[in-house]
Amino acid sequence: MSDLTAPERERILAKAALFAPPGPVLADGRRDLVGLSRAELAAEVAAVGEQPFRAKQLWHWIYHQGVREFSAMSSIARPLQEKFAEHFVISRPEVALDQRARDETRKFLFKFRDNEAVETVYIPDRVEDRGAVCISSQVGCTLSCRFCHTGTQRLARNLSAAEIVGQFLAARDAYGEWPSPKGETPRLLSTIVLMGMGEPLYNYENVAKAMKIVMDGEGIGLSRRRITLSTSGVVPMMDRAGEELGVNLAVSLHAVRDDLRDEIVPLNRKYPIKELIAACKRYPGASNARRITFEYVMLKGINDSETDARALVYLIAGLPAKVNLIPFNPWPGSAYETSTPAAIRKFAEIVMAAGYASPIRTPRGQDILAACGQLKSLEQTATG
Ligand code: SAH
Ligand code: SF4
Repeated sequence: MSDLTAPERERILAKAALFAPPGPVLADGRRDLVGLSRAELAAEVAAVGEQPFRAKQLWHWIYHQGVREFSAMSSIARPLQEKFAEHFVISRPEVALDQRARDETRKFLFKFRDNEAVETVYIPDRVEDRGAVCISSQVGCTLSCRFCHTGTQRLARNLSAAEIVGQFLAARDAYGEWPSPKGETPRLLSTIVLMGMGEPLYNYENVAKAMKIVMDGEGIGLSRRRITLSTSGVVPMMDRAGEELGVNLAVSLHAVRDDLRDEIVPLNRKYPIKELIAACKRYPGASNARRITFEYVMLKGINDSETDARALVYLIAGLPAKVNLIPFNPWPGSAYETSTPAAIRKFAEIVMAAGYASPIRTPRGQDILAACGQLKSLEQTATG
């Protein structure tokens, strides 16, 4: 049950419309098939006079096999491939930059049709032969959290569903991660974290559409447990995401008192801690073993005291939760320092003693500014 009031919903949707992404029609009149729901794809196929089963075939080629050209669709006869190519395209963002860090983290700058760009990061698991793709949901962010690089960039616009799915498809392309002719399935890029640039719950419609596409069993087929959506706490939309998507939830908490959270996560002035925690308790699965992840950036002398740790434990009491401690990642011009390793360890001990897992996140890809909160489409602002 969503507790989103009508005016709240209106306001969020109006804001989304203001920053609308480009639609599916290209300058040459062809339509992009990526990012369409199954029903929309079926409608496009019908509009060019073809049978419904063709939509199913296209879906399989686009999302299961990862093909980008109609000519590669061997189950479709050449004349029909050509007809599809006259009307449609299968888009990918352009790889404007591709950087690898020493730890094999890889950061892409993906550029879209209107030259706006976002960063997407592949983070290989340190142990297993797999990894997570950290996807952006907006170009920039409106929320201006004080410790976040993305927050210093004005919001240019929301990403479309095509652009959100497109980041994942393009990352898979870069790793050749599509089924081989022998039928081996992709393994490396098997998890999505919506933790890149932007606030996913301020672009909910497009994010939801994109996640439904990646979860579809006849395409990419990621289970909802392989997807984590991170929010700074857009309370009303958390209920909707829980009901409609049921993906894992990560909440950027970062402070346990409203006065401090108001300052470092300004969205707190709208949705204070008490409301945020109540929304976490309502989140599906929070009543059983499914854990909510609380993200907590460790800022030296700001939020890293033992008192803070104890207050944190008190705050989340009763919630199945895990606390990710993220040492602050500096960026050019940032105003904070990273907590000392001793302070982080002490904080982790207190949280752990209360029965919560409290992993300390090792920064990944720092040498290429790919770690949490370091993303910003600098190249885009330079050219745009
Ligand atoms: N807008 C969403 C998702 C993107 S941010 C959100 O805020 O949750 C992903 C995570 O990185 C968030 O927990 C965010 O607070 C954290 N983060 C931002 N800047 C950071 C920095 N400089 N160092 C470490 N973590 C940071
Ligand atoms: Fe936006 Fe998240 Fe950065 Fe805050 S932490 S400014 S919500 S991207």
